[in-house]
Amino acid sequence: MVYETQRPEETYRLGEAMGQEACPGTVYCLEGDLGVGKTVFTQGFAKGLGVGGPVNSPTFTILQQYEDGRMPLYHFDVYRIGDVEEMEEIGYEDCFYGEGVCLVEWPSLIREILPERTLWVTIEKDVEKGFDYRRITVEERKHP
Ligand code: ADP
Ligand code: MG
Repeated sequence: MVYETQRPEETYRLGEAMGQEACPGTVYCLEGDLGVGKTVFTQGFAKGLGVGGPVNSPTFTILQQYEDGRMPLYHFDVYRIGDVEEMEEIGYEDCFYGEGVCLVEWPSLIREILPERTLWVTIEKDVEKGFDYRRITVEERKHP
């Protein structure tokens, strides 16, 4: 499925709609360059799940956890990860294979520990279509 947004609010709303539909145990991989809108999408997604408080990028902590929505939300940003062992220290398996949903920014950096089935949300810019334009592709992926 391919979506196009023209403003941050539209990406937020797409995230919100997907948060409303989310099922427990799903891992969403948010792919895209720095500043493309992964965290904006996550903020909308959290809203759609019913998370009340502010959602910010967990870059310096790797994981932020929200328990006040209709199911737990685990927001990973692994941009600064050195080794996947850090994911083990965090206890990622309880998140990936638990009762909540996971959103992972920079998933390619932890490819070897991603679950077999994930939903990839790829966000891309296209400068020819304007500064705030984003193409957002959502697809199921199966890892070997
Ligand atoms: P990332 O988490 O991918 O590094 P952020 O979500 O933190 O990026 O930041 C995205 C930035 O791009 C924000 O400043 C946001 O306002 C801006 N932006 C402009 N247009 C869009 C759009 N269509 N969708 C999402 N963000 C957009
Ligand atoms: Mg971010």
